[in-house]
Parts: sequence; C-alpha cells; structure tokens
Amino acid sequence: MSVIRELHQQLVSKERSAVEIAQGYLDRMTALEPQLRSYLTVTADVALAQAAAVDAKIAAGEALSPLAGIPIGLKDNLCTEGIRTTCGSKVLENFVPPYESTVTQKLKEAGMVALGKTNLDEFAMGSSTENSAYQITGNPWDVERVPGGSSGGSAAAVAAGECAVALGSDTGGSIRQPASFCGVVGLKPTYGLVSRFGLVAYASSLDQIGPLTPTVEDAALLLGAIAGHDRRDSTSLDVPVPDYTQFLKTDLKGRKIGIITETFAAEGIDPAVKAATEKAIQQLKDLGAEIQEISCPQFPYGLPTYYIIAPSEASSNLARYDGVKYGARKDNDSLMTMYTKTRAEGFGDEVKRRIMIGTYALSAGYYDAYYLKAQKVRTLIKQDFEKAFASVDVLVCPTAPTTAFKAGDKVDDPLSMYLSDLMTIPVNLAGLPGMSLPCGFDDLGLPIGLQLIGNVLREDLLFEVGYAYEQATDWHKQRPSLS
Ligand code: GLN
Repeated sequence: MSVIRELHQQLVSKERSAVEIAQGYLDRMTALEPQLRSYLTVTADVALAQAAAVDAKIAAGEALSPLAGIPIGLKDNLCTEGIRTTCGSKVLENFVPPYESTVTQKLKEAGMVALGKTNLDEFAMGSSTENSAYQITGNPWDVERVPGGSSGGSAAAVAAGECAVALGSDTGGSIRQPASFCGVVGLKPTYGLVSRFGLVAYASSLDQIGPLTPTVEDAALLLGAIAGHDRRDSTSLDVPVPDYTQFLKTDLKGRKIGIITETFAAEGIDPAVKAATEKAIQQLKDLGAEIQEISCPQFPYGLPTYYIIAPSEASSNLARYDGVKYGARKDNDSLMTMYTKTRAEGFGDEVKRRIMIGTYALSAGYYDAYYLKAQKVRTLIKQDFEKAFASVDVLVCPTAPTTAFKAGDKVDDPLSMYLSDLMTIPVNLAGLPGMSLPCGFDDLGLPIGLQLIGNVLREDLLFEVGYAYEQATDWHKQRPSLS
C-alpha cells in the first residue's frame, strides 16, 4: 500500500499525530544515520513545527490534503529559504538561499513536513554519491555498497524508511539509477513538467526534478503536487496537471509495449539484470500487454552525446561560482588569484573534469566538431524515440546495467562510472518521462530496476504500466533489514 495513503489514514483516524509521525522518522534517522549518512542537514525543528501546524488543522476539524503531514527528504540541490543548500560542494558550504524553489514551496503549501536535505554527488555529477564533498552514503541493502547517484541520499533514505518519500533531480539518470540500486520507485518527468526554479542548475536542457518513493501510487501523488506551469521557469510547460492516481489500473489489455533491442545487446549488462528484465517483460505480457521488439539504433550514442552536452552546459552554469556572485570566497592578493583559488579549492575533481571538458567542447574551433555534432546526434536519438512511439505506448529496458557496486570500486575510473547511465541518458536527451521500479534481486540480494519510458507527457502510461506490474509482483514489499 502507498505509504502516503497509509500515513494519511493514520492522521485522519487520529491513530497518530503528525508530530508523532515526524518524530518517528527523526528517531529512525538517529538510529540509522551513523551507517547510512543519507542526510547532509537534518531540519528537525522545521519538521516538528510543520507537523504541529498540521495537527492544529486536524484539531480544528479542517479537511486534510493527502500530502499534509507526510515527511519528505529533499535533495540538497533544491533551494530552501533559510536552510543551507550545499549541492554536495565545498563551494556552497555556507550558502543559505534567500528564496524557496518552486517545488519545495508547493510542498509547503500542501502541508508536507521537510525532514532535511539529502546527500548527492557534487552538483549532481556522478552515479554513486561518492562525489559528495561531505560524506559517502551507504546503500541500505548493503552499506558497503553505493546507493547510486546522484540522488543517492534521497533513494537511500526512502529505502531505509528515513523519510516517507523524497525528491531528487535527474539530468542523465540521477533519480532512476539510485531508485534501481536502492529498490524504490523513481520517476523523471517529461522535461518542462516540473519547474526547475530554485533547482541549482547542472545541465539546464536536461535537468528535471522528480519523486523517489516506496510505491508507484506514492509517485503519482507526489508528482501531482510538484508538477505544473511556473512563469519563473521559461522552459516550464503550460499544460494541465491531471490527478495521476486515476491512471493506476491493474490490467494492460491492448497496451503495446516495446523492448529496446539495443539495451539487451549492450556490453557489460549483468546476467541477473538481464534475467530479471526478461521475466518482467513476460509478466507484462501475462497482464495483457502486446510485446514487440523495437530498434533504437542511436540509443548507444546517448552516452557520448551526453558527455559533450552536459559538461558544456555545466561549464557555463558553474561560472557563477567565482567568489563574487556565489561561492565560498578565498581571498587573495589579486582578483585573478581570488577567482582561481575559490574555484580550485571549492570544486572537486569530477566537477573540474566536466568544466574542462565543457569549456573545451564549446571553444572556438572545437564547437562544430563537438558541441554542434552532439546536438545533431541528440536530434537523431529523439527521432528514434518518435518512431518507436508511433507503434508502441511504452518502452521497457533495464534501468542500469548492474546492481549496486562497492564504494571505491569505480571512483578512479570515470568511464566505467559513466556507463551506469547508459540506459537512462537517452531519455533525458529526448526530454521524455522515465520510471524505474523494482523488478527483482540478484544473487547477493541487491535490488534490480526496470525502466519504463513514455512519450512526451505520457506519464499516465508509465503510471498505468508501472502500477499494474507492481500490483502483480511483490518486489516493492521487500525492505532491507537494517537495525
Ligand atoms: N550520472 C550522470 C552524471 O554523472 C547523471 C547525473 C544526473 O542525472 N544528475 O552526469
């Protein structure tokens, strides 16, 4: 059952107060944080005050929205007014935003309870959360392993019950890959469906905010609360936001589902991941879906394309951390040395690597060969998907080629780290919605994720297929045994 619904039920039946619920999560954090380190900042006072306000509403007999009193974890690249927002970077160590992001403002208005800011790879660059300048987060299924990234703190916190639900951001897979590694549901919405106002920018043409939740229904409820047009984000889509829970159905009769051939041919895919995905496809068929193979020939070019476009945008976005406009300023004898010292000491290796790649790809003489070429390939990838969606409703493939790896295993090998996002990146490049949901475990008991990809603004179909699959399986009911 949806955790949001369950807690809502407890609140309306007065079985537990919102303060008791919030305190329960804070106590669990006290018990588990020494092993997990999912949170960079815990906002217990804020949470308890927000919970008390919900309790006052209940006492006054006011109607309660489904999200009121539900405790949430927020990725620490979402600006929260008056609450430190580090982006996992030393350069923003002391940054306290003077304004609230649109999504967190919407959550406040819905009466949600903010438990704290979760750990991430620095500026959301990474696939393991090991690029955080502050701490390494453990995977709740095996704390020696990574939770995935970059929204690893949010995914681990949801999996471990350190919050009811969480928000992450996804530029190339940062919601879906950690969801897959931690055995939870992760949804990257259509580009433009959720406002990016107040999300610290990494690669603006790819970034989207989305839910990480224990179940598909929770994702539907949370997406409904954060989606919608915002005049403060010029790429925000002006479309109506439906009640996504109306799409939760349990049979898939007549639905056409495509299997992306290229994702199964990919090198380095774990046999356990492949087997679990094949079994999931069979289950979708048993639920009434028609399955067909679809070739997306440009799919494998997503990764190299992304690693030109994303660093290019990052190199421009991160120029603001110069110690003047933003960033922990390192004073020195001249302006130039102040800039260089601020940036050399403020950024970690991966961020510097990307600033250098991006600056190079955008520089005169190389722009056409790299950046422009990558933009053309991006269009081809988009066209592959358009063709595919002319004949199927939803595409399926594994979310990630492997299950969670050991901390330290890939930190010195950026290329093998980048390969984690082979299957998620093309979805961002095309601006499509993608969902990861649990579909099994490997021999070590580590979760495996199934990725569903929809056409632009077809989140409804992801919820339909995801929910039907979830209801027919019990992967989502399994929880890590942490104590
Ligand atoms: N892991 C990918 C990267 O390192 C994607 C990150 C993201 O989606 N924010 O860029």
